[in-house]
Amino acid sequence: MQLPQKHSATGTTIFTVMSALAQKHNAINLSQGFPDFHIDERLSKALGDAAASGFNQYAPMAGLPVLKQEIANSFRRRYGVQVDADSEITVTPGATYAIYTAFTAILSPGDEVIVLEPAYDSYIPNIEMNGAHAVIVPLSAPTFSVDWQRVQDAITPRTRSIIINTPHNPTGAIWTLDDWDQLAAIVRNTDIIILADEVYEQLVYDGARHHSVLEHEELRQRSFALYSFGKVYNNTGWKMGFCIAPQELTQAFRRIHQFLCFTVNTPAQYALAQHLAHDTRPIHEVMQRKRDYFLELMKDTPFTIHAPARGSYFQVAGYERISDLPDREFAEWLTREYGVATIPVSAFYSNGKDDKLIRFCFAKKEETLADAVARLVKLPAL
Ligand code: PMP
Ligand code: GLN
Repeated sequence: MQLPQKHSATGTTIFTVMSALAQKHNAINLSQGFPDFHIDERLSKALGDAAASGFNQYAPMAGLPVLKQEIANSFRRRYGVQVDADSEITVTPGATYAIYTAFTAILSPGDEVIVLEPAYDSYIPNIEMNGAHAVIVPLSAPTFSVDWQRVQDAITPRTRSIIINTPHNPTGAIWTLDDWDQLAAIVRNTDIIILADEVYEQLVYDGARHHSVLEHEELRQRSFALYSFGKVYNNTGWKMGFCIAPQELTQAFRRIHQFLCFTVNTPAQYALAQHLAHDTRPIHEVMQRKRDYFLELMKDTPFTIHAPARGSYFQVAGYERISDLPDREFAEWLTREYGVATIPVSAFYSNGKDDKLIRFCFAKKEETLADAVARLVKLPAL
């Protein structure tokens, strides 16, 4: 059978591959980014209550009004920004879907999209599925900051969009206000649209603060901001998220959304609305404790931590004192021989660039992290 090749990514996504390998070898899974601890009991109870109370039919296409309002309240409370619940927020089945939908709303065949690599692995396939091309600008290890001259040099008359991600997966880097200003200066006087993947917005550490594109008045007018409840409330399997964009972009987004999935899980929307209304605690504290605990344990291993993650679920580490294998082979070997699964960072580069780094997910119970590192300390240094 001849079937069309919709994008250039071959094989299965690395997250599926490494989680399956972890299972096969009964390894501790610090690869795919998902928590292994229970979600807040009030949230699971709210989901059951919503279903039992009969909230089981289609919600409005753009999302339940009460959830959209609670999202708007949350952004006003936390960032001091006004978001119009009706015309600027669309509830989605996760952020991956929202990114695809935003690209589909704005891209035409032949368009170019600038992608800063390493990058989350769905971006480029999503661009290509729309007949557009990714133009790669590398971030530089070990800080993974943006070289703005290279971004400027990558712009052509065909550049339709730039996708950015802060806090960053896989590196844990976060953007400064200056990064947003640099981006604004580059896109000023163009019609480039920004996709801001901010799924880890509440997971920022060491007293730092997440700067959202929504706070940047000039950029906000031309941006889709994409979010995931899964990352914030540790319920990644619910696959719930949302998109915030100005009215005109939201209309374009909904033109696609209404024929892609039409509307999103109703009881989950009720549960999240209730939870958002009552849960005003800072969310980063629990995760920062996990990051600190993990980093402390890792001091006894031969891995090199070039920079502590400033945000996200992830810590990148070098293994140059352990092996000179390519990173994918190293990650497979570590899973097989030492029972700890991780993600090779080359999976986030379209050309497979190998910085000899692997990514650990520390969004785990402390005992999981301790058990994993107890295995890693046995690694002999070269
Ligand atoms: N963007 C980034 C950077 C991510 O790490 C993830 C991970 N899940 C997503 C988007 C997708 O989120 P969701 O699970 O809500 O689709
Ligand atoms: N975002 C998560 C990660 O980077 C998982 C995403 C996925 O499994 N597709 O590990």
